[in-house]
Amino acid sequence: MSSVSALLENRSLVSGGSGFLGSHLCDRLLEAGHDVLCVDNLFTGQKRNIAHLIGNPRFEFLRHDVTFPLFVEVDQIWNLACPASPIHYQHDPVQTTKTSVHGAINMLGLAKRLGAKILQASTSEVYGDPQVHPQTEDYWGHVNPIGPRSCYDEGKRCAETLFFDYHRQNQVRIKVIRIFNTYGPRMHPNDGRVVSNFIVQALKGEDLTIYGEGLQTRSFCYVDDLIDGMMRMMNSSDDVTGPINVGNPTEFTMIQLAETILGLTGSASRIVFLPIPQDDPRQRQPDITRARTTLGWEPKVQLEDGLKETISYFRRILGS
Ligand code: NAD
Ligand code: UDP
Repeated sequence: MSSVSALLENRSLVSGGSGFLGSHLCDRLLEAGHDVLCVDNLFTGQKRNIAHLIGNPRFEFLRHDVTFPLFVEVDQIWNLACPASPIHYQHDPVQTTKTSVHGAINMLGLAKRLGAKILQASTSEVYGDPQVHPQTEDYWGHVNPIGPRSCYDEGKRCAETLFFDYHRQNQVRIKVIRIFNTYGPRMHPNDGRVVSNFIVQALKGEDLTIYGEGLQTRSFCYVDDLIDGMMRMMNSSDDVTGPINVGNPTEFTMIQLAETILGLTGSASRIVFLPIPQDDPRQRQPDITRARTTLGWEPKVQLEDGLKETISYFRRILGS
C-alpha cells in the first residue's frame, strides 16, 4: 500500500472479508477509493465471493485466523470475522467464542497501536429472545448464557464490552453497530439461514422447512442497505461510538416469508413444519430511530425487490 494512500487515511482492513457481508463491504470500499486488506480464515467465507477482486492492485487477501495477533499498517478496521449462521457458529462453539473475544482483543490491540478507527459488526442477538419490542439500543437483552446459541450471543456481548473498555481505558476510536437479519447475493447456500434455505429449497423443488409454527418474526434488511449504514457509521464523527441498530424495521413471520418466496420463484414446493430449535427468538424488530437521527440512514430496498436479486443469484450458482 502506497505512502500516498496512507496520507489519505483510506487503508482498510476487513476481517471476515470473504464472507457474505465482508465481500460486499470490500467492493464498496474499493469503489470509494480505499486500499483493502481482506483478512479471513475461510471458515465460512468463500473464495468465489472475492474472486473478481483478485488482481486489483488496491486489494489484498490474507488467509489468517483473527484469534492470533496480526501486525499490519492500516487506518480503519472493520471487524466482521465470525460465523453468523446458527449451524456454522454451533459447529465449533468454543472457536466461535474465541473468534469473537480473542478476535476483538487482537483487532482492538491493533487499532490501539495504530490509532486506527475500528468498527464492530455486532448483532441483534445481543438482545436474545427480547422482552422489549421493537428493540432499542438501551435494552440490555434477555440472553441464555449456557444454551446452544450462547457461544455466539455471549461472545458478541463480550466483544461489545471489550470495545467500550478499550474506548474508555485507551481512547480507541470505536464504532459498534448491531446488525439485524441481513440477506442478499453471496449468502452461503448451505449456511442454514432462513432466506437462503427457503430460496434454495424452492429452486430445487424441495419442501420449505419452517421451524415451529412459523409465527416467529424477523425483519430482513437487504445487503446494499446494510453496507450503506455500516459505511455511514465508520464515517461519522468520533463521538458517535454506538451501539446503533442497523436493520430493516419491517417485520414478517416465517410463514409470510415462505409464501413470498414461493410466489417469487413460481415454485411448486410444499411447506413442512419441523421442530423449533432451542432458544429461537420469537420476535425481532429493530428500532432504528438512532440510525435515522445520528447517521441519516434508513433502509430503502423492499423485501420483494431484495428477494428477486437474491433469487437470481441462487439461480446462477445452483445452475453452475
Ligand atoms: P459469514 O459467515 O458469511 O462471514 C463471516 C466471515 O468471517 C467468513 O468469511 C469467515 O470465514 C470469517 N471468519 C470466521 N471466523 C474467523 C476467524 N477466526 N478468523 C478469520 N476469519 C474468520 O457471515 P456474515 O453474514 O457475512 O456476517 C459477517 C459479520 O456480521 C459477523 O460478525 C456476524 O456476526 C455479523 N452479523 C451478520 C448478520 C447477518 O444477518 N448477516 C446479522 C448480525 C450480525
Ligand atoms: N428458520 C426456519 N426454517 C429454516 C431456517 C430457519 O423456519 O429452514 C427460522 C428459524 O427458526 C428462525 C428464523 O427462521 O426463527 C430465522 O433464522 P436464521 O437462522 O435465518 O436467523 P436467526 O435465528 O439467527 O435470526
